[in-house]
This record gives sequence, C-alpha cells and structure tokens, in this order.
Amino acid sequence: MTKTIIIGAGFGGLALAIRLQAQGIDTLLLEQRDKPGGRAYVYQEEGFTFDAGPTVITDPSAIEALFTLAGKRMEDYVELLPVTPFYRLCWETGEVFDYDNVQDKLEAQIARFNPRDVEGYRKFHTYSREVFKEGYLKLGTVPFLSFRDMLRAGPQLTRLQAWRSVYSMVSRFIENEQLRQAFSFHSLLVGGNPFATSSIYTLIHALEREWGVWFARGGTGALVQGLVKLYQDLGGEIRLNAEVTRLIADDNRIRAVELKNGETIQTAAVASNADVVHTYEKLLGHHPAGAARAASLKRKRMSNSLFVLYFGLNKQHDLAHHTVCFGPRYKALIDDIFNKNTLAEDFSLYLHAPCVTDPSLAPPGCGSYYVLAPVPHLGTADLDWNTEGPRLRDRIFDYLEQHYMPGLRSQLVTHRIFTPFDFRDQLGAHLGSAFSIEPILRQSAWFRPHNRDSKIENLYLVGAGTHPGAGIPGVIGSAKATAGLMLEALSG
Ligand SMILES: Cc1cc2nc3c(=O)[nH]c(=O)nc-3n(C[C@H](O)[C@H](O)[C@H](O)COP(=O)(O)OP(=O)(O)OC[C@H]3O[C@@H](n4cnc5c(N)ncnc54)[C@H](O)[C@@H]3O)c2cc1C
Repeated sequence: MTKTIIIGAGFGGLALAIRLQAQGIDTLLLEQRDKPGGRAYVYQEEGFTFDAGPTVITDPSAIEALFTLAGKRMEDYVELLPVTPFYRLCWETGEVFDYDNVQDKLEAQIARFNPRDVEGYRKFHTYSREVFKEGYLKLGTVPFLSFRDMLRAGPQLTRLQAWRSVYSMVSRFIENEQLRQAFSFHSLLVGGNPFATSSIYTLIHALEREWGVWFARGGTGALVQGLVKLYQDLGGEIRLNAEVTRLIADDNRIRAVELKNGETIQTAAVASNADVVHTYEKLLGHHPAGAARAASLKRKRMSNSLFVLYFGLNKQHDLAHHTVCFGPRYKALIDDIFNKNTLAEDFSLYLHAPCVTDPSLAPPGCGSYYVLAPVPHLGTADLDWNTEGPRLRDRIFDYLEQHYMPGLRSQLVTHRIFTPFDFRDQLGAHLGSAFSIEPILRQSAWFRPHNRDSKIENLYLVGAGTHPGAGIPGVIGSAKATAGLMLEALSG
C-alpha cells in the first residue's frame, strides 16, 4: 500500500507523523541520521548524556495533545519534571535575577533592580498575555495559505503594535536596562533578534508563565523516544539512515521519493521536515517550481547560528538548571551576531546543567553540561569553523572557569563541539542557521513558507521553516496546521 512520506524526524516531523497515523493515514518517516530528534539529537559519551539542542520544554499541553489524540496517556511514555527557577540570569557586574513563576517572588526580584519597574512589569505581563491569546492560542496552529488570512489577522496585529520590536515594546514598560534584557532575550530562543523581531514574540513570556518550564526525565532525548514509541504503537514506520535525495514529480505532483541508496519509494503525499531551502533546492531543484521557490527563499533572511560546547565534568557545580550569562554588551553584541561578518570578542552564553533536575544524566557525583553562544550564520560571517571552533571553545572554557565554574578544566572528562558547519553538514541547514527563516514580521505568518506548497499539490512543509516557526511549541503547532491540510486532502 502507498504510504504518505514524512522527510525528517525532528519534533515537527514526529508530531505530524503521529497526527496522521492516529487518523488512519499510513505513514513512513524517513530520517537521514542514525537517531531521531533532529536538533534534539543525543550524544552519549563515557556515561554522560548530552541533549544536543532543546532543553527548555514549554507548553506541555501541546505535547500531551499528541498522546491524547492517539488515545494514550502521556505519563505512560514520558515524565515531565518542573524546573525552578525557570532561568537564572547573571551579569558580569555580579547581579543575579532568578526568573520565576511566583508573582511575589518575581516582583521582589524586579524591585531589587528598580522598584518603579514592578508596575511596568505588571503592564508588560498583561500585554504579553494578550499577544499570547491572539498570536499563539488563536493563530499558532492555523495555516496562513492566502493573503486573506493575513488581512483577517491584520487588525489584531495593528492593535498589538506588532511592527514594534520585542526590545522596544519591553522598553515601553520597563526602565532598567538589565530588566529590559531579562524580558527581551526570549526571542533569541527561537532565532529572533530582540531588536528586529516583532513584539508578537513577547508572547513567549506569557506562555512560560501560563504552563511553566519543564524538563523530561532522562533528557529531551527521552521525550523524543517517547514520541517515537507512540508513533510506532500506532503502527507508524520509521527508517533511520534513510536520506532522501530527490522528490520525483509528474508535472505538479510528487509521485515518489528517491533515497541516497538508490531506492525509490512511491507515495501519496510528502511532507518535508527538512530545512526549507534544502527541500526546494536539493530535493526539488530539478523541477521549475522547486528551483523558483529555492531562489526566492534564498533571498530571505535566515536566523543566526549557534556554537554549542558539550562537556562532562567529574564534579557537579552549584548552578541553576538554566543559566543565562549576559556578557558586557547586549544590543551591540546582538547586532554583531545578526549583521557583522566577524566573530565578536565577547559573548553571551546559555549554560545548561541538567543534572540539577535529573542526576541520572551523568555518572554519580559528575555533571553533564552544555553551553551555547549565538554566532553569525555562514552568510553573515563566512568563517572557517574548523579553526574558529576550537578557539572559541577555549575562550568559553576560560570564561566559565573564571566566572561560573571554578576548576572546570581540571575536572573535564569529555567534550565535543557543534559549529555552524555542523548545522549545515549534519542537518542540511541553509547557511548553518540554527532556527531557519528569521522570525521578523515580513517573514511571519503568510509571509513564511506555507504549510502546503502553492504549486506542487501534494507537497507539504512542517517544522521551523514554516508557520508558525521555530521552538518546540512552534514546530508542534506547525504539525497541527499541516496535519489539518493533509487530512482534508487525503481522507477524502
Ligand atoms: C542548540 C539548540 C537549542 C535549542 N533550545 C531550545 C529550547 O530549549 N526550547 C525550544 O523550544 N526550542 C529550542 N531550540 C529550537 C528547536 O530545537 C527547533 O526549532 C526544533 O527542534 C526544530 O524542529 P524541526 O521539526 O523543525 O526539525 P529539526 O530538528 O530541524 O529536524 C529536521 C530533521 O530532518 C532531517 N533531514 C533533513 N534533510 C533530510 C533528508 N534529505 N532526508 C531525511 N532526513 C532529513 C534532519 O536530519 C533532522 O533530523 C533549540 C535549537 C538549538 C539548535
């Protein structure tokens, strides 16, 4: 029987496969790597478990919905543990802000920085909740296929002043510069420059406060495994080490996919969770519609890349689960990352210490960590990461040892790095971008690549490059939007 094919087992591909399979559409999930998860890959080395990518799990209800619609219970597959504080924010000047969900505690922290900002924060939170309702609850899982859909959303976007940037909106409510950073950095978690990305992305604050911040027992990889098991329990088939190299089309319809090993598989429809530029340029570049779409996508702005350093120590440091280490510059550094063709001398870091929540991720008494620095993608700065990578690794180790983790180097058991070259070569990410198309207003909703291709009738997209965008809640939302379109077409 001809199956519907999903290319790529990232969170978006997996969520789509589950949704279709649960509705009786027979699917085949093809993943080029040896493990599922995509950006949520897992490294296991010398007894340490390193989640490669996402660690901040928000909107657990979107994940739970996948189990519920399949008639299963999430707790039979995966356990989510609450993370408190959500984040610890640290500055080089020694200030610390524990970003928490308890209103009194949060306000007390804000008052320490600037008492006048407590009232401003309350107003910001009200604004952020409004955006969350409009932008996430109402529009986050709706496919924007026509400009009419965009026009319909127009009045709300205007009322919420979506043309303003995240930072500019936060600054309307909050005076203190460090608090402005504390409430504007979130868009960086989905590849958005807080000084350029639409204020719609302030919704992340309300989303975190609504449902909390979570971590899967066993790491994000355990969540991926839970979703794979759910999919397989529904009868879905997944093939690893199965790279798709070409989509074979008859006129404007995909008939089959070709794998790297030369195998051809017939299909009723294809949804690509692979990078959107890769999908059109590499898999469909031989088709006029594919070539034209690839050319137009290459004119879009891509979001930044990341440098990630995973390391295991023979000691656990006294840290929060999630620490944001702000460097000496904020706006100027972000400007360098998004617009300059060099690597800045300074950096801001996100430090992950999962053993705080789940000690099983390292041998007894040891700690598993990763630290990431946002860096320019390869189109912004054409750097040779084979030489820059080890250099940046050493600079970051020195910095962490000096500011956060005394004795780090002498405690080092194992480490590895992931650079923009790896995003490009291992994930097929255009220009090594970590989050796909940059989430600015003129590249959002209808302006983003659509969940269904407008020319090739049975080609769909799912994941960070389509609506609504990157981040686990985003790509799971995209799966809902795409599944709705596919079910309409395939169930008939
Ligand atoms: C380091 C890092 C940290 C992050 N932290 C967070 C966080 O804490 N919280 C959060 O919500 N989000 C976070 N994100 C963002 C989030 O991880 C991503 O937006 C999301 O996981 C992307 O999912 P996706 O479905 O788009 O697919 P991806 O994860 O990009 O997966 C796509 C899959 O397609 C496969 N593929 C590509 N081409 C082919 C082909 N030709 N044939 C077969 N398979 C193919 C790839 O191998 C890959 O497995 C982070 C991202 C990174 C990089």
